[in-house]
Amino acid sequence: MIPFLDLKDINAQYSQQLKDACGRVIDSGWYIMGNELKQFESEFAQYCGVKHAIGVANGLDALILVLRAWKELKLLADGDEVIVPANTYIASVLAITANNLVPVLVEPDAGTFNLTLATVEAAITAKTRVILPVHLYGQLAPMPELMALAKRHGLLVLEDSAQSHGAAIEGQKAGSFADAAAFSFYPGKNFGALGDAGAVTTNDDQLADCVKALRNYGSHQKYLNLYTGVNSRLDEIQAAMLRVKLQYLPDETKIRQSVATQYLAKMRNNAVILPQVVVPEGHVWHLFVVRCLQRERLQQHLADAGVQTLIHYPVAPHQQPAYQGQFQYSLPITELLHQQVLSLPIGPTLTQDQIDQVIAAINSFSG
Ligand SMILES: *Cc1c(COP(=O)(O)O)cnc(C)c1O
Repeated sequence: MIPFLDLKDINAQYSQQLKDACGRVIDSGWYIMGNELKQFESEFAQYCGVKHAIGVANGLDALILVLRAWKELKLLADGDEVIVPANTYIASVLAITANNLVPVLVEPDAGTFNLTLATVEAAITAKTRVILPVHLYGQLAPMPELMALAKRHGLLVLEDSAQSHGAAIEGQKAGSFADAAAFSFYPGKNFGALGDAGAVTTNDDQLADCVKALRNYGSHQKYLNLYTGVNSRLDEIQAAMLRVKLQYLPDETKIRQSVATQYLAKMRNNAVILPQVVVPEGHVWHLFVVRCLQRERLQQHLADAGVQTLIHYPVAPHQQPAYQGQFQYSLPITELLHQQVLSLPIGPTLTQDQIDQVIAAINSFSG
């Protein structure tokens, strides 16, 4: 069976370096908010092309803490509206409701799976304060256009970059377009720790200071608390793991891109709709998601051919029991996508034989 994603294989490539880094932290005797975190924050900020990266415990906290900081800085208040794509992973929506803000779910483009300028613009009301685009599956949302729109309407923009480390338009990377961005380093992401981790990126000094305080009990200075903060710090061990893996992220991204290029060029099946790419170098292929009217049959056919697949995501956030009764509008494109999407293996350790096998399995499906 070709596994959907083989984390053991991926990390085995760097096993000695990861163990050395781990040993360095153990021997240092300093496990929280130390040199590894400081170095990682500076290296990741440089990688993204931003002034500040602030390590936090996970991607959801990164999203929550940016919105929370904007509330502390009086840029947002309870009940303000945040525009977010309806087909995102639920974390983007949870971060909004956790802050007593109102998610306004908008339909994505069915070809790119991302927000469009037109649907965002149509959703802007007098209460809108934030646009929260998600670079879903590794492809950048139309950021230059969205930033211009936000500027015209005086809105803040928060990029959910959890799936798009390194995605770029003309050299400008995910996490550097908006007022702030949230990253996840969950092990299965393109850039993954060996446990939970996340980061906020921004060029805004005030916001950076506020998030730094919020992640550490609302405190900049020991025993002085400016805010009722939380404990959401990125451990030294995980920072050390991430520093090792950051060196290999550009190469792993190139491998994902070359697998996707082969899939796009060689998959030929009228029953399988391939993903639309807007800017080829702007896609880092966290997931390779196809659409099929008979998705369950396609998934079975691939399993029979030895190809493991997953569904991202089977249920839309507005249809989750957690949000029952809260979204009284219909989202037909989003609901259709959730019935049709299927994610194929695209990890950085796939062999050419495996790639060929996935392509052959898609091409032999009789729709
Ligand atoms: C993974 C993910 C998150 C949350 O990240 P965690 O580190 O798992 O909390 C948020 N948004 C999107 C789009 C994600 O894919």
